Parts: sequence; structure tokens; C-alpha cells
Amino acid sequence: KQQQQKPHVVIFPSPAMGHLIPLSEFAKRLVLTHNFSVTFIIPNFGFPIISQKSFLDSSMPKTIQVLYLPPPPPLADVPSDADPSFFVTTAMTRAVPALRNSLKLLTESTRLVALVVDVVGTDSFEVAREFNLLRYIFVPLCAMSLSLLLHLPKLDEEAQAQGYSDYKDIPDPIKIPGCLPIRGTQLVNVMQNRNTHTYKLFIHHTKRYNLADGIIVNSFLELEPRAFNAFVDKEDGSGKKPPVYPIGPVLQTRPTSGNDDEVECLRWLDEQPRGSVLFASFGSSGTLSQEQLTELALGLEMSEQRFIWVLRCPAKDGASGVHYNAQSINKDDDPFDFLPKGFMERTRRGGLGLLVRSWAPQIQILSHVSTGGFLSHCGWNSILESLVNGVPLIAWPLFGEQEMHTEMLTKQFKIAFRPKKNEEDGLVGREEIAKLVRDLILGEGGKPLQQKARELKELAATTTCEHGSSAKSLAQVIQIWKNHETIMP
Ligand code: UDP
Repeated sequence: KQQQQKPHVVIFPSPAMGHLIPLSEFAKRLVLTHNFSVTFIIPNFGFPIISQKSFLDSSMPKTIQVLYLPPPPPLADVPSDADPSFFVTTAMTRAVPALRNSLKLLTESTRLVALVVDVVGTDSFEVAREFNLLRYIFVPLCAMSLSLLLHLPKLDEEAQAQGYSDYKDIPDPIKIPGCLPIRGTQLVNVMQNRNTHTYKLFIHHTKRYNLADGIIVNSFLELEPRAFNAFVDKEDGSGKKPPVYPIGPVLQTRPTSGNDDEVECLRWLDEQPRGSVLFASFGSSGTLSQEQLTELALGLEMSEQRFIWVLRCPAKDGASGVHYNAQSINKDDDPFDFLPKGFMERTRRGGLGLLVRSWAPQIQILSHVSTGGFLSHCGWNSILESLVNGVPLIAWPLFGEQEMHTEMLTKQFKIAFRPKKNEEDGLVGREEIAKLVRDLILGEGGKPLQQKARELKELAATTTCEHGSSAKSLAQVIQIWKNHETIMP
């Protein structure tokens, strides 16, 4: 009887919005197109996840269940100097006994076939095996990031043998199979120093990637052919690897919320000429320092080009770009109060710009004909969203994999400019911003980028069509999951 039931998949994610968005879209495809049922099991991270909860509540169809696990045992033994990723990763590991209880209940009532985890969720693999579930990792990143993760244990051994505790001290560029060589300083921040707690956790998890039955990636073969082909190579010295399935681009399909700000934003765009607007946004959590925010404002104004800018309160610690930390910001602060004097009046009066607080309907903006460029922090979802809409970028990396993405956008895909920072203060100055914005929207320099962006848009459109490479990869995964024999409890 059980084999006739719908196959059921459990997704065990980390709380980052950039991960939850593609995972939830993936879940929707499983349910709406492939007749699966899905449960999200969300660990308790020991801090409130308000925006994640409201996203899941508002975007998930009723057929997808979301379970929130009880708090894990206290994280009091976590070292006080650990960074937030360490807390998240540790909380996911400590949630495994509670996950086990939920899986047990689900196996009693559904035909559970697979557990899908995020990049740091591999400590749940033993429990999945206990229930005879297939074990998959969903990588909401590019093939280059996955190649780096798979290769990390080997890079670690090499750095150890050469006596480097910090990748940034390694003079030669780092070679990742099938990818552009990158400098140690361009690695994901938490991976740069081999002695940090978070780095050690990454080594622990990436060593366990070989336990997975498959790795699903939100990118597509035609975009990163060399990196994907390198996964198929028999031996690069990093041991046996699970099959890799590129199924992207998997993008947010949520309709606009219909709130006044979103409606105003899209109405304003309707009134602008084709390809004339620059959209500036730093993802779900990026923000700038006060000094950098001022330069960006004055640069946008000097460019005399139209813009939509999603603005957050500046970071207090003086860095020119960091994670926005809601706790460190006074909740009564208004991001508009940090703009240069008279900026709002001058730009609004000329009909030049539209400012949005904290969150804009990014997908709708990027797919609008009036949008001609995207000044982005280069999160992977933002890149995919720009790419499927043929929008060239100004790459402004802040943290995480964004440096690496910028290297790909400027040197491999060739669809982005990168602003230069001043040597004295490390800021991107207003003149530089104005020059690049003008060039991207109007100038000769922007034309090859626009052309390349159009080509990539066409490639992206074919890959998820019926016989496209991503559609075929997804079909393979679906088939394996549907064929998996479950054990009757
Ligand atoms: N996003 C949005 N509106 C905003 C900011 C972000 O809709 O104002 C969405 C964006 O479309 C993307 C995601 O949030 O799907 C951000 O993911 P990304 O990987 O680009 O960056 P992250 O937030 O993980 O740094």
C-alpha cells in the first residue's frame, strides 16, 4: 500500500533567505509538477527568524508542511568568539535528535524517500540512513562554489603542508577544478583563515559530502560547462564524488505583496523609458557604511541616470559593506535619514530616482523593460535573476562568495563592471560610481555587456525547457526518488 502513496521529501534548511528562496521554489516544483509531498523541518537556531517565518508562511502552498523544531540544548559551550555561521551550523547539528523524532513520525504516515539538506546539514545523514532515506545536498550556489566546497579538504591539506594558516598569505592563485583561479582573499570570508571555528566546521561537512547520494545545484550546465564537467572527471585527487545535478535557474516566483511601496515602485517604472533605470540593491542582508552610502548617493545623482535604490540603515562599525544586523540598529531609525542633505528632494523633484526602504520586488523590477542595469552585491540568486532577464551589472561584492562571483561576472561571463576603490580610504568614490552607471546605461562600454547579457538570457531560457539540460537533470533526480523503495515501519 505504501508504495502507491505519493513520494514524500523532507527539506532541512539553514535560515539564510538566499537559501530558503530557491529551496522553497524547488519544493513547489516537486509538489505542483511532480506529484510529491514535501515537509520543511526548520531547526531552532536560538534566535528569532521573523522574516524567514513570514516568507515561508506567505509563499508556501498549503500542501507543503512547515515544522519548526523545539529549541536545541543550550549553546552555552559555543566559543564566545565564534561568528554567526558557527552558531547556525552548530544549531543544525544539535537539532538532529529532534529531526529524528519528526522523521520517525513522518515515516509512519507517509512514503518518505529523501532528505534534502543545505550545505552545512550533513550531520543529519546518519539519521537519514536509519530510515533508509536517500541523502541529497541542495547547493543554492554556483558550480564554482560547489567545486570549492568539494575541493576544500584537499586545499586544506596543501595549505597545511606548505605551512599556511591563512589562505590570504598564499602567494599563488588557488586552483579549483574547472574554475577560474582565485586569490586567497577572494575566498568566502569564513573560509579564509584555517584556524577559525567556522572553517573547521566547513572542513567537517565538506569531507562528508561524499556520503550524499547526489548534489543538486542551482546553476546550469551551459553557464559553467567547465566546472560541471570537472565533477564528472574520474580522478582529480579529491576522492569519489556523488553525482551532481544542475537544475537551475530556480528563481523566486512569488507575486508582489501588493503593498503600497511595491505598487508605487512598479508604477514608477512603467513611466520610465526602456532600459533607462539602474536598480541598486545589496540582497537580503547587505548594507554599507555611512561614508560609502553618502558616496553612492552622490554618485547616483551625478550620473544623472534614473535609479531605484533599496536602502538600509548604514552599518555602525565603519566597514564599507557588511551584513545588516537588525539587532545593532535602532528600530526607530529611518534609512532615509542617513542620506546626504537635500538628496531626496533633488532626485525626487527631477523624477530621477526612487528610494525604497529595506525590501523591493526585485524579480519584478529586473524583469521590467525599463530596467537597464543592476548594481548588485552579487549574491547568487541576484545574479541568476539578472541573467534570466538579460540585465548587465555593476558588481559590488560585500561578503561571502560575492568576491568569487564578481570574478566570474567580470572575467568569465563578461556581463559586469567592477568599481575601483580609492586607495586612501577603501571607498568607491562618487565619480567612479557616476562614470560606471553612465557607461552601463548609456555608454559604448556598456554595449558589449548588454549583448553578452542578452546571450546568457537566451541560454538560461532554453535550459529549463522540456528538453533543456536542467530539465533533464531534474527529471533524473525525480525518477530516482520515485523509484526508491521505502521500508515499511
Ligand atoms: N530580494 C528581494 N528584494 C530585496 C532584496 C532581496 O526580493 O529588496 C530577494 C532577491 O530577489 C533574491 C534574494 O532576495 O532572490 C537575495 O538572494 P541573494 O542570493 O542575491 O543574496 P543574499 O540575500 O543571500 O545575500
